[in-house]
Amino acid sequence: MSQTFFSLPRYLRLRSIDFEEDDLYGQSVEDDYCISPSTAAQFIYSRRDNTAPFAETEEYGYKDTECSNYSISSHRLTGVQKAQLDSCLDHMREVLGESVPEKEMVEAVLSSRFDVQQALDSVLAQINKQGMKIKSEESVIQGKATKGKTRDSQTTRTESDVVPKVTKMTVSGKKQSTGFEVPGVDAEENGHNALMPQKGLSAGDANVSLEITEVLSKPALSSQTVQSLEEQTTAPTPMKKSGKAKQQIDVKAELEKRQGGKHLLNLVVIGHVDAGKSTLMGHLLYLLGNVNKRTMHKYEQESKKAGKASFAYAWVLDETGEERERGVTMDVGMTKFETQTKVITLMDAPGHKDFIPNMITGAAQADVAVLVVDASRGEFEAGFETGGQTREHGILVRSLGVTQLAVAVNKMDQVNWKQERFLEIVSKLGQFLKQAGFKESDVAYIPTSGLGGENLVTRSQSSELTKWYEGKCLLEQIDSFKPPQRSVDKPFRLCVSDVFKDQGSGFCVTGKIEAGYVQVGDRLLAMPPNETCTVKGIALHDEPVDWAAAGDHVSLTLTGMDIIKINVGYVFCCPKESVKVCTRFRARVLIFNIEIPITKGFPVLLHYQTVSEPATITRLLSVLHKSTGEVTKKKPKCLVKGQNALLELQTQRPIALELYKDFKELGRFMLRYSGSTIAAGVVSEIKE
Ligand code: GDP
Repeated sequence: MSQTFFSLPRYLRLRSIDFEEDDLYGQSVEDDYCISPSTAAQFIYSRRDNTAPFAETEEYGYKDTECSNYSISSHRLTGVQKAQLDSCLDHMREVLGESVPEKEMVEAVLSSRFDVQQALDSVLAQINKQGMKIKSEESVIQGKATKGKTRDSQTTRTESDVVPKVTKMTVSGKKQSTGFEVPGVDAEENGHNALMPQKGLSAGDANVSLEITEVLSKPALSSQTVQSLEEQTTAPTPMKKSGKAKQQIDVKAELEKRQGGKHLLNLVVIGHVDAGKSTLMGHLLYLLGNVNKRTMHKYEQESKKAGKASFAYAWVLDETGEERERGVTMDVGMTKFETQTKVITLMDAPGHKDFIPNMITGAAQADVAVLVVDASRGEFEAGFETGGQTREHGILVRSLGVTQLAVAVNKMDQVNWKQERFLEIVSKLGQFLKQAGFKESDVAYIPTSGLGGENLVTRSQSSELTKWYEGKCLLEQIDSFKPPQRSVDKPFRLCVSDVFKDQGSGFCVTGKIEAGYVQVGDRLLAMPPNETCTVKGIALHDEPVDWAAAGDHVSLTLTGMDIIKINVGYVFCCPKESVKVCTRFRARVLIFNIEIPITKGFPVLLHYQTVSEPATITRLLSVLHKSTGEVTKKKPKCLVKGQNALLELQTQRPIALELYKDFKELGRFMLRYSGSTIAAGVVSEIKE
């Protein structure tokens, strides 16, 4: 899950909610589609496996697994075929449980040429013939329970087994939304919707390209008084310690040199459930060597035992280690990989059904996104046309500032790598993404097979693809994303996504640096509490460093402050140029595809960076013209879908936020109500 931020001239033309002149953010979504967390289900790299990578070595081959003595090596399958076989076997096990020997299932799949339905029919016919008892429903349920158990057993994996280290990020802790009741707070978690039909996110009908001319707001508030606090001594921590007097650094020059000159890029993977996000990214990490064969083999065993053999790649991104008990409600998993010119922080939100709020937080911190779509007949359509998440995620990430997108047209093996199908998807998606505000030149489409590993880290050599595709593979595309502009020249800002106690004195906070830079020894101000502290250590990707800058996801070890004072969503900033704190602010919003008109007093959940805070729409100030931004109506009685408007919001408790014109990264938010995203907005004026 971020963005680039610029300070802006006094009068701005805003297309949609973005201010860059060339940054078209027309939002037009014709169809209703829901963003129900219940349907959104998991934004996880789920658990499927493909045995292809093991095929090369006997040791990690398909055969001789704990749960199967049956060998298929005699069938001489290609990697892709083995992967297909696994996928089919998974489906069959779902229906048949363990009632049918694997050998029979394999034979059925092979003789049906990977048509799982046909294979099932033939096995079932065979069972009937032999009078075999098919597993009762009860045992199927039991089977599922066992799966769950086995899946849980992954927590017993030792850390050393797992090469890609998944760091967890706490997001929008429950304690952040303890204000008054907002319909949908629970619904979001329970996956059902209290009042509003789940149709929120659609930027309205037709081209809701919005351009708002904006009279900019008050200048920044004056700096906070900085209290001088005694520094405490700290015990050793994994952070780099301040041993000597701080040296001034030339951050821009250092950034160029850092990571061997590689740029850091934050990437979020989005797409409809089951599009293959987990498998794709898990396989990519495997192919990059971020997962050793032994670990992969273990995942294969575990996932097979769980009856979900094709989930193993997805397990790659599963969290490791113990859950930290800090009142966590949602976690975003982060892992790192490298391309030729970039170091990528990959973000995903494992295992949570209340996916959208999670995804908002993730996307708010992303520079770029990979949108995964399932090319299979009917599946792409399900994700794209009939209330699927392809559209909603596309709009959400764009609303949150992501401008560059790689679309993985995945499961191409399912459509025999047909160019026509690829082009059909490109054309449908292209239109939509353009309306959603992505520039054509910033969107690239790559045909892939996450399961087979085709076109992921190297260009596919398969003639089925090479005869019509000469473009980049997924990794090359990720590598060629433009590095985002980092606001290193601006005052320091870090929005807290996690707080925890370190071994030493002091404590740690993690989060993404949105602006400026920080050095060991710096004093920082935490807002809203308005307390200062000292940075005793900084860790970037678990490595101690002396400094870190805008765009970096870091852990800071802090002293001179009580951990109790700090919560997820608080902002650490430069004491001299502090972030603003308020409970009342004005904003320009784009209303999505809502059913119930928004009226004065409307309760919402404000999703802002890592905060989700109850708020009320206290004033409807004006309706704005979609393209000119001129006021078309003052003090409207209500706001309806597709409208652009200026309104005032009141939060339950003070929150730290910034004007969009000053800090683009910190000036965007989303409004949700009853499990649906109802609007995207930018902060235009801070009242009090
Ligand atoms: P997610 O929900 O988007 O993370 O999707 P998963 O990675 O869990 O994949 C969903 C299902 O699609 C699993 O059964 C995978 O094995 C299967 N799958 C994923 N990628 C491919 C692919 O490229 N080809 C085929 N045939 N199946 C795939």
